[in-house]
Amino acid sequence: TELQLIKSEKLSAVGQLSASIAHEIRNPLTALKGFLQIMRSSAPSKEMSYYEIMADEIARIEQITGELLMAAKPQVQHFHYENLTDILHDVTKLLNSQALINRVNIHVNTEAIPLVYCVAHQLKQVFINLIKNAIESMPSGGDIHVFIGNSQNGQVYLKIMDQGCGIPEDLLQNIGIPFYTTKQKGTGLGMMTSFKIIESHGGRMEISSKEEEGTMVTITLPVHFVE
Ligand code: ADP
Ligand code: MG
Repeated sequence: TELQLIKSEKLSAVGQLSASIAHEIRNPLTALKGFLQIMRSSAPSKEMSYYEIMADEIARIEQITGELLMAAKPQVQHFHYENLTDILHDVTKLLNSQALINRVNIHVNTEAIPLVYCVAHQLKQVFINLIKNAIESMPSGGDIHVFIGNSQNGQVYLKIMDQGCGIPEDLLQNIGIPFYTTKQKGTGLGMMTSFKIIESHGGRMEISSKEEEGTMVTITLPVHFVE
């Protein structure tokens, strides 16, 4: 569709430039971080909170540059036939403690599906991005349901449903635009990266959402993708 086309143009425009900027920011940042640590260890206690804020903010810049690099860097793509259910279970294990801290339970339901021709670490990143968003959409806890199954014409699907804040209809079109975030500490890069990865696997990602009720993200992927 037209909307998807516009998105890919934005991605390639933002791509190269942001990768080189992100890379250039990383080195001085590492130096700052090191010296801050040294200063912090001998800081008077009344200054401690300043150092903590500085460390937090440096961590935030690191996160943004990290996500940018990942999104923009041309990576060697190793497509193999992989077990999506295993990848999903790795991710839920990884995110389980973050979920529990937020009183969120992740429920996984899987049908037997064929192996999928994909880049495992990229799909893992997509699952992480989506489940993190689901957790963050429920500040007072709730349930996340993840389904894996066979869809029509030999494709497979993965659905992630939350009971979170939802996305107002008029803002739905912004999701996936680089840096679009509604969160105080968000980067607005997770959905862009996810769209880009799913696209590069010949798949589709759809979002449906209702304010105050929740969001459902559905990914459909071909099993045999011709690169
Ligand atoms: P970030 O999480 O850093 O804000 P993302 O690209 O992951 O960036 O998401 C962009 C925006 O999309 C979020 O700020 C939020 O407004 C919206 N969003 C994404 N997933 C969900 C969800 N499951 N529930 C509610 N809003 C969501
Ligand atoms: Mg996110």
